[in-house]
Amino acid sequence: MRRRLFAVASAISLLLFVGTVVLWVRSYAACDQLILYTRRSRIDLVSGLGILACSRTADLSHELVIPDSGWVYISNDPAPNRAWICPIPLVWGFGYYVNRVKGVADPWRALSVPYWAMALGSLIMPAAWLILSYRRWSCNRANHCPKCGYSLTGNTSGVCPECGTPVPQHGNSSGSNTMATSES
Ligand SMILES: [Zn+2]
Repeated sequence: MRRRLFAVASAISLLLFVGTVVLWVRSYAACDQLILYTRRSRIDLVSGLGILACSRTADLSHELVIPDSGWVYISNDPAPNRAWICPIPLVWGFGYYVNRVKGVADPWRALSVPYWAMALGSLIMPAAWLILSYRRWSCNRANHCPKCGYSLTGNTSGVCPECGTPVPQHGNSSGSNTMATSES
């Protein structure tokens, strides 16, 4: 059950990776902006030049029109530079900034995450799945415990002496085990 959940989560993560790469490539061809207006604030999500930036402001005094739905999507030409997308100091595309002004309870905040980091992050689980699957496969093959990797050569109890995991017997006599040993 846990193994299946892990496989499903890895597949979803792999889909996320593909989606991230598509957005990453697109971020150099266009600058996409998604704005959400809530009653007291405006949240901007901007994708461009390899980064995804999010900012929130509670100052809506400069807004000319606030849409009824609360959502606005704008697709611009490629941004001239990253400062246009996210005007905060960035290191490798990462950045976080809070503009604290005395007397203002709700400051302006901005966060930037580079697409390469998101792509890398979404690859961790599929990579772990691949490595574990390979390890399980090679351990099964080499007559080792599928859970802890302990050598089961000569084992006739059907249980791993190291961790107690029930292990499938390759044949019902120790003869087959001996054969496996002599092969390897
Ligand atoms: Zn074991």
